[in-house]
Amino acid sequence: MKKKIIFNVPKFDKDDLKNINNLTSLKHYSGNGYFTNKCNEWLVKNLKCKESLLVHSCTAALEISAILLNLKAGDEVIMPSYTFVSTANAFVLRGAKIVFIDVDKKTLNINPKLIEKKITKKTRAIVIVHYAGVSCEMEKIKKITKKNRIILIEDAAQALLSKYKGKPLGSFGDLATISFHETKNIHCGEGGALLINNKKFIRRAKIIKDKGTNRDDFNKKIVKKYTWVDLGSSYSLSEINAAFLYSQLKKAKEITRKRIYIWRTYNKFFSKLEKKYQITRPFVPKYAGINGHSYFIFIKKNLRNDMLNFLNKKNIMAIFHYIPLHSSPYGKKLSKTNFTLENTDLKAASIIRLPMHLNIKEREIKHISNIVTEYFKNQKI
Ligand SMILES: *Cc1c(COP(=O)(O)O)cnc(C)c1O
Repeated sequence: MKKKIIFNVPKFDKDDLKNINNLTSLKHYSGNGYFTNKCNEWLVKNLKCKESLLVHSCTAALEISAILLNLKAGDEVIMPSYTFVSTANAFVLRGAKIVFIDVDKKTLNINPKLIEKKITKKTRAIVIVHYAGVSCEMEKIKKITKKNRIILIEDAAQALLSKYKGKPLGSFGDLATISFHETKNIHCGEGGALLINNKKFIRRAKIIKDKGTNRDDFNKKIVKKYTWVDLGSSYSLSEINAAFLYSQLKKAKEITRKRIYIWRTYNKFFSKLEKKYQITRPFVPKYAGINGHSYFIFIKKNLRNDMLNFLNKKNIMAIFHYIPLHSSPYGKKLSKTNFTLENTDLKAASIIRLPMHLNIKEREIKHISNIVTEYFKNQKI
Protein backbone atom coordinates (compact mmCIF):
# COMPACT_ATOMS: atom_id res chain seq x y z
CA MET A 1 0.00 0.00 0.00
CA LYS A 2 1.49 3.31 -1.12
CA LYS A 3 -0.68 5.62 0.95
CA LYS A 4 0.53 6.21 4.48
CA ILE A 5 -1.84 4.93 7.16
CA ILE A 6 -1.83 7.81 9.63
CA PHE A 7 -1.94 7.16 13.39
CA ASN A 8 -4.62 9.71 14.26
CA VAL A 9 -6.88 11.90 12.14
CA PRO A 10 -8.78 14.25 14.47
CA LYS A 11 -12.52 14.06 13.82
CA PHE A 12 -13.75 17.03 11.81
CA ASP A 13 -16.93 17.71 9.84
CA LYS A 14 -17.67 21.02 8.15
CA ASP A 15 -20.79 21.38 10.26
CA ASP A 16 -18.62 21.53 13.40
CA LEU A 17 -18.01 25.15 12.37
CA LYS A 18 -21.72 26.07 12.20
CA ASN A 19 -22.05 26.85 15.90
CA ILE A 20 -19.00 29.11 15.71
CA ASN A 21 -20.80 31.22 13.10
CA ASN A 22 -23.72 31.58 15.53
CA LEU A 23 -21.40 33.34 17.97
CA THR A 24 -21.61 36.52 15.89
CA SER A 25 -25.23 36.94 16.97
CA LEU A 26 -24.59 35.82 20.56
CA LYS A 27 -21.69 38.31 20.78
CA HIS A 28 -19.96 36.34 23.51
CA TYR A 29 -16.63 34.72 22.68
CA SER A 30 -14.85 34.25 26.02
CA GLY A 31 -15.73 31.46 28.46
CA ASN A 32 -18.91 30.71 30.44
CA GLY A 33 -21.42 31.41 27.67
CA TYR A 34 -24.23 29.61 25.86
CA PHE A 35 -22.17 26.75 24.39
CA THR A 36 -20.21 26.20 27.60
CA ASN A 37 -23.55 25.64 29.35
CA LYS A 38 -24.70 23.31 26.58
CA CYS A 39 -21.53 21.21 26.84
CA ASN A 40 -21.76 21.07 30.64
CA GLU A 41 -25.41 19.99 30.44
CA TRP A 42 -24.48 17.27 27.96
CA LEU A 43 -21.67 16.01 30.21
CA VAL A 44 -23.81 15.97 33.38
CA LYS A 45 -26.60 14.12 31.59
CA ASN A 46 -24.49 11.57 29.74
CA LEU A 47 -21.70 10.97 32.27
CA LYS A 48 -24.08 11.00 35.25
CA CYS A 49 -21.90 13.33 37.31
CA LYS A 50 -23.23 15.98 39.70
CA GLU A 51 -21.51 18.98 38.10
CA SER A 52 -19.32 19.65 35.09
CA LEU A 53 -16.98 22.60 34.54
CA LEU A 54 -15.69 23.07 31.03
CA VAL A 55 -12.00 24.07 31.06
CA HIS A 56 -9.20 24.56 28.53
CA SER A 57 -7.60 21.13 29.04
CA CYS A 58 -7.58 17.97 31.11
CA THR A 59 -4.36 19.38 32.55
CA ALA A 60 -6.35 22.39 33.82
CA ALA A 61 -8.96 20.08 35.38
CA LEU A 62 -6.19 18.16 37.15
CA GLU A 63 -4.67 21.42 38.42
CA ILE A 64 -8.02 22.57 39.83
CA SER A 65 -8.36 19.14 41.51
CA ALA A 66 -4.95 19.58 43.10
CA ILE A 67 -5.78 23.07 44.41
CA LEU A 68 -9.06 21.72 45.85
CA LEU A 69 -7.12 19.23 47.98
CA ASN A 70 -5.39 22.00 50.00
CA LEU A 71 -2.19 19.98 49.95
CA LYS A 72 0.45 20.66 52.58
CA ALA A 73 4.17 20.01 52.10
CA GLY A 74 4.80 16.30 52.39
CA ASP A 75 1.24 15.23 51.57
CA GLU A 76 1.19 12.18 49.34
CA VAL A 77 -0.76 11.40 46.20
CA ILE A 78 -0.83 7.86 44.84
CA MET A 79 -1.02 7.23 41.08
CA PRO A 80 0.25 4.90 38.36
CA SER A 81 3.57 5.74 36.74
CA TYR A 82 2.23 4.64 33.37
CA THR A 83 0.40 7.86 32.49
CA PHE A 84 0.70 11.27 30.85
CA VAL A 85 2.85 13.88 32.63
CA SER A 86 -0.09 16.10 33.56
CA THR A 87 -1.48 13.48 35.96
CA ALA A 88 1.60 13.97 38.14
CA ASN A 89 2.57 17.57 37.33
CA ALA A 90 -0.70 19.04 38.62
CA PHE A 91 -0.01 17.67 42.12
CA VAL A 92 3.73 18.33 42.10
CA LEU A 93 2.89 21.98 41.35
CA ARG A 94 1.00 22.08 44.68
CA GLY A 95 3.93 20.60 46.59
CA ALA A 96 2.70 17.00 46.87
CA LYS A 97 4.91 13.96 46.97
CA ILE A 98 3.95 11.53 44.23
CA VAL A 99 3.85 7.83 45.11
CA PHE A 100 3.96 5.77 41.93
CA ILE A 101 2.61 2.26 41.95
CA ASP A 102 2.67 -0.54 39.43
CA VAL A 103 -0.08 -1.41 36.96
CA ASP A 104 -1.92 -4.62 36.28
CA LYS A 105 -0.08 -6.32 33.44
CA LYS A 106 -3.22 -7.13 31.50
CA THR A 107 -5.02 -3.77 31.55
CA LEU A 108 -2.17 -1.33 32.32
CA ASN A 109 -4.48 0.19 34.92
CA ILE A 110 -3.50 0.74 38.54
CA ASN A 111 -3.36 -2.55 40.46
CA PRO A 112 -5.75 -2.19 43.42
CA LYS A 113 -3.91 -4.91 45.34
CA LEU A 114 -0.85 -2.66 45.60
CA ILE A 115 -2.64 0.48 46.76
CA GLU A 116 -3.17 -0.22 50.46
CA LYS A 117 0.49 -1.00 51.09
CA LYS A 118 1.34 2.50 49.95
CA ILE A 119 -1.21 4.34 52.07
CA THR A 120 0.28 6.34 54.93
CA LYS A 121 -1.02 9.02 57.29
CA LYS A 122 0.01 11.56 54.67
CA THR A 123 -1.91 10.04 51.78
CA ARG A 124 -4.50 12.55 50.60
CA ALA A 125 -5.64 11.27 47.25
CA ILE A 126 -5.45 8.51 44.69
CA VAL A 127 -5.47 9.39 41.02
CA ILE A 128 -6.46 6.55 38.76
CA VAL A 129 -6.14 6.49 34.96
CA HIS A 130 -8.53 4.52 32.77
CA TYR A 131 -5.88 3.56 30.24
CA ALA A 132 -7.06 3.48 26.61
CA GLY A 133 -10.57 4.10 27.93
CA VAL A 134 -10.74 0.72 29.69
CA SER A 135 -12.17 1.04 33.20
CA CYS A 136 -10.15 0.46 36.37
CA GLU A 137 -11.58 -1.91 39.01
CA MET A 138 -13.91 0.65 40.51
CA GLU A 139 -15.54 -1.38 43.28
CA LYS A 140 -12.21 -2.45 44.76
CA ILE A 141 -10.77 1.05 44.48
CA LYS A 142 -13.82 2.77 45.97
CA LYS A 143 -13.71 0.37 48.91
CA ILE A 144 -10.11 1.36 49.65
CA THR A 145 -10.68 5.12 49.32
CA LYS A 146 -13.80 4.98 51.51
CA LYS A 147 -12.15 2.90 54.21
CA ASN A 148 -9.09 5.15 54.35
CA ARG A 149 -10.98 8.42 53.76
CA ILE A 150 -8.93 9.36 50.75
CA ILE A 151 -10.11 11.51 47.85
CA LEU A 152 -10.53 9.62 44.59
CA ILE A 153 -9.74 11.37 41.32
CA GLU A 154 -10.39 9.68 37.98
CA ASP A 155 -8.13 10.79 35.15
CA ALA A 156 -10.71 9.90 32.53
CA ALA A 157 -8.91 11.85 29.78
CA GLN A 158 -9.25 8.92 27.36
CA ALA A 159 -12.46 7.49 28.75
CA LEU A 160 -15.37 9.59 27.46
CA LEU A 161 -18.47 7.32 27.31
CA SER A 162 -16.58 4.27 28.61
CA LYS A 163 -18.29 2.34 31.38
CA TYR A 164 -17.80 0.25 34.51
CA LYS A 165 -20.64 -2.25 34.88
CA GLY A 166 -22.83 -0.04 32.70
CA LYS A 167 -22.15 3.16 34.64
CA PRO A 168 -20.18 5.95 32.89
CA LEU A 169 -16.59 6.58 33.94
CA GLY A 170 -16.24 9.99 35.52
CA SER A 171 -19.19 9.32 37.81
CA PHE A 172 -17.18 7.36 40.41
CA GLY A 173 -14.49 9.71 41.74
CA ASP A 174 -14.96 12.67 44.06
CA LEU A 175 -13.52 14.41 41.00
CA ALA A 176 -12.86 13.29 37.44
CA THR A 177 -11.11 14.87 34.48
CA ILE A 178 -11.80 14.60 30.75
CA SER A 179 -9.70 15.72 27.78
CA PHE A 180 -10.93 17.16 24.50
CA HIS A 181 -7.45 17.37 22.98
CA GLU A 182 -7.36 16.47 19.28
CA THR A 183 -5.79 13.11 20.13
CA LYS A 184 -8.95 12.04 22.00
CA ASN A 185 -12.19 10.60 20.60
CA ILE A 186 -14.09 13.89 20.84
CA HIS A 187 -12.19 17.16 20.66
CA CYS A 188 -12.13 20.93 20.15
CA GLY A 189 -8.43 21.32 19.41
CA GLU A 190 -7.65 21.62 23.10
CA GLY A 191 -10.21 21.41 25.85
CA GLY A 192 -11.24 19.52 28.94
CA ALA A 193 -13.76 19.17 31.74
CA LEU A 194 -13.68 18.79 35.48
CA LEU A 195 -16.48 16.50 36.64
CA ILE A 196 -17.51 16.80 40.28
CA ASN A 197 -19.41 14.13 42.21
CA ASN A 198 -18.58 15.24 45.75
CA LYS A 199 -20.80 18.27 46.30
CA LYS A 200 -18.49 19.86 48.83
CA PHE A 201 -16.08 20.74 46.00
CA ILE A 202 -18.52 22.44 43.63
CA ARG A 203 -18.54 26.03 44.85
CA ARG A 204 -14.80 26.29 45.37
CA ALA A 205 -14.00 24.61 42.05
CA LYS A 206 -15.94 27.34 40.26
CA ILE A 207 -14.01 30.03 42.12
CA ILE A 208 -10.65 28.42 41.29
CA LYS A 209 -11.65 28.12 37.63
CA ASP A 210 -12.68 31.81 37.53
CA LYS A 211 -9.21 33.11 38.56
CA GLY A 212 -9.96 32.92 42.28
CA THR A 213 -12.98 35.23 42.05
CA ASN A 214 -16.62 34.79 43.03
CA ARG A 215 -17.70 35.60 39.50
CA ASP A 216 -20.20 32.75 39.49
CA ASP A 217 -22.08 34.37 42.42
CA PHE A 218 -21.97 37.66 40.51
CA ASN A 219 -23.40 36.05 37.36
CA LYS A 220 -26.20 34.60 39.47
CA LYS A 221 -26.74 38.06 41.01
CA ILE A 222 -25.97 36.77 44.51
CA VAL A 223 -23.32 39.49 44.93
CA LYS A 224 -23.18 42.99 43.41
CA LYS A 225 -19.44 42.98 42.64
CA TYR A 226 -17.05 40.14 42.07
CA THR A 227 -13.68 40.08 43.75
CA TRP A 228 -10.64 37.99 44.68
CA VAL A 229 -11.70 35.39 47.26
CA ASP A 230 -9.34 32.38 46.87
CA LEU A 231 -6.50 30.83 44.88
CA GLY A 232 -7.25 30.37 41.24
CA SER A 233 -6.21 30.77 37.66
CA SER A 234 -7.59 31.21 34.16
CA TYR A 235 -9.02 27.80 33.35
CA SER A 236 -12.17 28.43 31.29
CA LEU A 237 -12.60 27.26 27.70
CA SER A 238 -13.42 30.00 25.20
CA GLU A 239 -16.87 29.91 23.60
CA ILE A 240 -15.22 29.48 20.19
CA ASN A 241 -13.89 26.09 21.31
CA ALA A 242 -17.06 25.26 23.24
CA ALA A 243 -19.17 25.90 20.12
CA PHE A 244 -17.01 23.45 18.15
CA LEU A 245 -17.03 20.96 21.01
CA TYR A 246 -20.81 21.00 21.38
CA SER A 247 -21.17 20.03 17.73
CA GLN A 248 -18.86 17.05 18.36
CA LEU A 249 -20.55 16.04 21.63
CA LYS A 250 -23.90 15.76 19.89
CA LYS A 251 -22.33 13.11 17.64
CA ALA A 252 -20.30 11.50 20.42
CA LYS A 253 -22.36 8.33 20.75
CA GLU A 254 -22.30 7.68 17.01
CA ILE A 255 -18.54 8.38 16.87
CA THR A 256 -18.00 5.99 19.79
CA ARG A 257 -20.02 3.23 18.10
CA LYS A 258 -17.90 3.57 14.95
CA ARG A 259 -14.66 3.47 16.93
CA ILE A 260 -15.76 0.37 18.80
CA TYR A 261 -16.50 -1.27 15.44
CA ILE A 262 -12.98 -0.44 14.20
CA TRP A 263 -11.50 -1.68 17.51
CA ARG A 264 -13.36 -4.99 17.13
CA THR A 265 -12.24 -5.34 13.52
CA TYR A 266 -8.62 -5.02 14.67
CA ASN A 267 -9.26 -7.48 17.45
CA LYS A 268 -10.70 -10.01 15.02
CA PHE A 269 -7.71 -9.87 12.66
CA PHE A 270 -5.20 -10.00 15.50
CA SER A 271 -6.90 -12.94 17.21
CA LYS A 272 -5.57 -15.10 14.35
CA LEU A 273 -2.07 -13.71 14.84
CA GLU A 274 -2.19 -14.18 18.61
CA LYS A 275 -2.61 -17.91 18.06
CA LYS A 276 0.39 -18.14 15.71
CA TYR A 277 2.89 -15.58 16.97
CA GLN A 278 4.00 -14.13 20.27
CA ILE A 279 1.69 -11.17 20.45
CA THR A 280 -0.88 -10.21 23.05
CA ARG A 281 -4.03 -8.28 22.32
CA PRO A 282 -5.61 -5.69 24.66
CA PHE A 283 -7.48 -7.24 27.58
CA VAL A 284 -10.96 -5.94 28.33
CA PRO A 285 -12.34 -7.15 31.68
CA LYS A 286 -16.02 -8.18 31.83
CA TYR A 287 -16.92 -5.11 33.87
CA ALA A 288 -15.50 -2.67 31.29
CA GLY A 289 -17.50 -1.06 28.48
CA ILE A 290 -14.99 0.35 26.00
CA ASN A 291 -15.05 3.50 23.83
CA GLY A 292 -12.62 2.38 21.13
CA HIS A 293 -10.04 4.99 22.08
CA SER A 294 -6.93 3.03 21.20
CA TYR A 295 -5.86 -0.29 19.71
CA PHE A 296 -2.49 -1.80 20.55
CA ILE A 297 -0.59 -5.05 20.76
CA PHE A 298 2.25 -6.22 22.95
CA ILE A 299 5.25 -8.06 21.52
CA LYS A 300 8.56 -9.20 23.00
CA LYS A 301 10.36 -6.10 24.19
CA ASN A 302 13.59 -6.89 22.34
CA LEU A 303 11.65 -6.87 19.05
CA ARG A 304 9.46 -3.87 19.72
CA ASN A 305 11.54 -1.05 18.22
CA ASP A 306 12.49 -3.25 15.29
CA MET A 307 8.85 -3.94 14.53
CA LEU A 308 7.99 -0.24 14.87
CA ASN A 309 10.67 0.57 12.28
CA PHE A 310 9.36 -2.16 10.00
CA LEU A 311 5.78 -0.91 10.21
CA ASN A 312 6.81 2.69 9.61
CA LYS A 313 8.93 1.68 6.61
CA LYS A 314 5.79 0.02 5.26
CA ASN A 315 3.91 3.32 5.64
CA ILE A 316 2.02 2.32 8.76
CA MET A 317 2.32 4.94 11.49
CA ALA A 318 2.59 2.79 14.58
CA ILE A 319 3.97 4.27 17.80
CA PHE A 320 4.83 3.37 21.38
CA HIS A 321 3.41 5.23 24.36
CA TYR A 322 4.42 6.69 27.73
CA ILE A 323 7.92 6.66 29.11
CA PRO A 324 6.92 5.66 32.65
CA LEU A 325 7.04 8.75 34.85
CA HIS A 326 9.19 7.14 37.54
CA SER A 327 11.95 6.60 34.97
CA SER A 328 11.57 9.96 33.19
CA PRO A 329 14.32 12.54 33.82
CA TYR A 330 12.12 14.71 36.07
CA GLY A 331 10.51 11.75 37.80
CA LYS A 332 13.96 10.46 38.75
CA LYS A 333 14.99 13.87 40.03
CA LEU A 334 11.90 14.08 42.25
CA SER A 335 12.14 10.63 43.79
CA LYS A 336 15.92 10.78 44.19
CA THR A 337 16.09 7.00 44.00
CA ASN A 338 15.99 4.65 41.06
CA PHE A 339 13.37 1.98 41.35
CA THR A 340 11.61 -0.42 39.06
CA LEU A 341 7.94 -1.15 38.58
CA GLU A 342 7.91 -4.55 36.97
CA ASN A 343 4.74 -4.50 34.87
CA THR A 344 4.98 -0.81 34.03
CA ASP A 345 8.56 -1.16 32.78
CA LEU A 346 7.85 -4.31 30.80
CA LYS A 347 4.61 -3.18 29.19
CA ALA A 348 5.92 0.28 28.31
CA ALA A 349 8.77 -1.48 26.47
CA SER A 350 6.54 -3.93 24.60
CA ILE A 351 3.55 -1.90 23.45
CA ILE A 352 2.81 -1.02 19.84
CA ARG A 353 -0.12 1.31 19.26
CA LEU A 354 -1.73 1.01 15.85
CA PRO A 355 -3.49 3.66 13.73
CA MET A 356 -6.93 4.38 15.16
CA HIS A 357 -9.40 6.90 13.78
CA LEU A 358 -12.69 6.99 11.91
CA ASN A 359 -11.18 6.99 8.39
CA ILE A 360 -9.53 3.59 8.76
CA LYS A 361 -10.93 1.01 6.38
CA GLU A 362 -11.33 -2.69 7.07
CA ARG A 363 -8.93 -3.48 4.21
CA GLU A 364 -6.31 -1.25 5.83
CA ILE A 365 -6.65 -3.13 9.12
CA LYS A 366 -6.27 -6.38 7.21
CA HIS A 367 -3.20 -4.93 5.50
CA ILE A 368 -1.70 -3.94 8.88
CA SER A 369 -2.23 -7.46 10.24
CA ASN A 370 -0.59 -8.85 7.07
CA ILE A 371 2.46 -6.63 7.55
CA VAL A 372 2.76 -7.76 11.17
CA THR A 373 2.58 -11.35 9.93
CA GLU A 374 5.26 -10.59 7.35
CA TYR A 375 7.47 -9.22 10.12
CA PHE A 376 7.22 -12.45 12.10
CA LYS A 377 7.82 -14.58 9.01
CA ASN A 378 11.03 -12.64 8.30
CA GLN A 379 12.11 -13.28 11.90
CA LYS A 380 12.14 -17.04 11.42
CA ILE A 381 14.74 -16.99 8.66
C1 LIG B 1 -4.43 13.35 27.12
C2 LIG B 1 -4.25 13.08 28.54
C3 LIG B 1 -4.07 14.10 29.48
C4 LIG B 1 -3.90 15.54 29.10
O1 LIG B 1 -4.97 16.08 28.43
P1 LIG B 1 -4.91 17.61 27.93
O2 LIG B 1 -6.35 17.89 27.59
O3 LIG B 1 -4.02 17.63 26.73
O4 LIG B 1 -4.42 18.43 29.04
C5 LIG B 1 -3.98 13.76 30.82
N1 LIG B 1 -4.05 12.49 31.22
C6 LIG B 1 -4.19 11.47 30.34
C7 LIG B 1 -4.26 10.07 30.86
C8 LIG B 1 -4.28 11.73 28.98
O5 LIG B 1 -4.41 10.71 28.11
